[in-house]
Amino acid sequence: MANQPTDAVHSAMLNTTSPSLPTTEQAAAPHHAISSVPQATAATQPSVVLRDYQQHAVRAVVHYFRRQSDPAVLVLPTGAGKSLVIAELARLARGQVLVLTHVKELVEQNYLKYCSYGLDASIFAAGLGRKENQHQVVFASIQSISRNLAEFANTFSLLVIDECHRVPEDTDSSYQKTIAHLKSVNPNLKILGLTATPYRLGTGFIYQYHAKGQVKTDEPRFFRFCIYELALKTLIDRGYLTPPQLLDAPVLSYDFSGLTPTLQGFRPDELAQVIDRQKKITPQIVAQILHYSQQRHGVMIFAASTSHARHILSLLPAQQSALVLADTPAAERRQIIENFKQQQLKYLVNVSVLTTGFDAPHVDLIAILRPTESVSLYQQMIGRGLRLSPGKTSCLVLDYAGNLYDLHQPDIQEHAPDPAVKPVIVPCPLCQFQNEFWGKADSNGFVMEHFGRRCQGFRLNENGQVQRCDFRFKAKYCLECGTEHDIAARQCRQCGVDLVDPEKKLKEALGLKDALIFAPHQMLFSRHQTDKGASLKVSYIGAEGEQIHEFWPLKTPAQKKAFATKFVPSHLNDRFAPFTASTIDAVIAQQHRLQAPAIVIARKEGRFWRLRDKLFAQSFATPIAQLWQPSSTANS
Ligand SMILES: [Zn+2]
Ligand SMILES: [Zn+2]
Repeated sequence: MANQPTDAVHSAMLNTTSPSLPTTEQAAAPHHAISSVPQATAATQPSVVLRDYQQHAVRAVVHYFRRQSDPAVLVLPTGAGKSLVIAELARLARGQVLVLTHVKELVEQNYLKYCSYGLDASIFAAGLGRKENQHQVVFASIQSISRNLAEFANTFSLLVIDECHRVPEDTDSSYQKTIAHLKSVNPNLKILGLTATPYRLGTGFIYQYHAKGQVKTDEPRFFRFCIYELALKTLIDRGYLTPPQLLDAPVLSYDFSGLTPTLQGFRPDELAQVIDRQKKITPQIVAQILHYSQQRHGVMIFAASTSHARHILSLLPAQQSALVLADTPAAERRQIIENFKQQQLKYLVNVSVLTTGFDAPHVDLIAILRPTESVSLYQQMIGRGLRLSPGKTSCLVLDYAGNLYDLHQPDIQEHAPDPAVKPVIVPCPLCQFQNEFWGKADSNGFVMEHFGRRCQGFRLNENGQVQRCDFRFKAKYCLECGTEHDIAARQCRQCGVDLVDPEKKLKEALGLKDALIFAPHQMLFSRHQTDKGASLKVSYIGAEGEQIHEFWPLKTPAQKKAFATKFVPSHLNDRFAPFTASTIDAVIAQQHRLQAPAIVIARKEGRFWRLRDKLFAQSFATPIAQLWQPSSTANS
């Protein structure tokens, strides 16, 4: 075989020794080299030269699979040259390599890139009329391979899945069945996914952990780690892609606010109806596209439905325009695309068929006349216009559907809790990880409020296991044993008792006649002496002179333990250092570390008020001000 790699690379692809991830510097910042991985030797170096980030991506993969076996993801934006990265990995690997994707155009594109090294490979894709799997490297479509699993007794060492955001978690899917088959032949199969958009509608991120040390989701994912990610902005800044130019405040727009996407996206019939009701503005929109395209050379228009696309086409100059639909015959489609690439056609209308694998670098205007249910689809559409081409300096983006995605901030962890919030960076006081949360910042960028609950940071221990940072920005504590929980938790995972739901408690108390509810503006600690002995007295004092006290004798070990588990956890305001004070005087000396509850609730017992509940700000999901105003204090 012409492409025997060095032993080091061989072991990198096949062996698992002590697991570890590439560090942040190695994996996430392209300018740091991984010194421990040797370069491909001169003898196997092809004429193709990889860009530096492509080399870094390849090295991150080699480095990762040397120590780990869990499926991993590379995130490379459209236009980053994914096929070349795949070709280089296939070239370096010893053992058989399978490169899998969902459309024949990508199978062909990846195959041709590999062949540009002067190497040969097999193609297994009915759509391309070839069903071979004898070469060291096989490029296949998932449809063809999943229908012919019996023909694949090959012991593949590496499976590369292009456009891997299409791999569902569902074990009944073609992808998962194929993977299960390949793993039954070789349990040590390494699986690498590549994608520009590592999320799926409905489920969010397709991987669980990012190499920069960030937990993306608490739910297990088929792909465990993202080992390398390159931002679209980096490619644009470095001149590898054309900058998109979004037209500010387009006056015209369709209203798609009544539509809700299903897991499969918007329902085509509903989409068509919504467009049909608004078809009166289509001529104005097309007139505006024509106006903005005077100095442009290639215009792609994304329509919402077939009839919408036909309507748009009828408004464009007939000689310069064409339409591609899902059912356009292959030969006709090829001819149209060829004419468009040759610039014999200027306007190309389509209904979400020309997103993946379509490549016409001269495109310099993208018009979006359909709502996009996912940021992936939005990025794919814009990506059609970002390729470099002689004389092209920008790609104008006209969005008539109010999609409002930020192309440079595509993180979609959860939906923003309200439209005014933006991603903010909140460092963890415990592990220093720079958390990305939804939140609000002032004009200087200071974070005023955020919705983060738990630190997203993780580290790998010496056994390669993920160790999550324990710090919680929002938390509630078991009143029996003091264990910390997410604010959504209902039962203590340690001792099983029901946890207080502060919003419910507050609501209940507000409905009671004999409850005293106030926001203490002072919390005082003092020594309380009676003839039975001394105890710690904690007094909560409201703005109108309300006073409630609680007493903690701190003499016996059981009393000290009760204080440490029932009082300290929720009161501690710097939770990343242990609170060890356990005598009355020591607690009084350490009182600066203890915070007052946001709300105190007391009930009348005979002539006295007795403390019933203390509700802490950190345990509320909703800001307290939205639930209760202190003016409504005692309703006795
Ligand atoms: Zn942390
Ligand atoms: Zn408990």
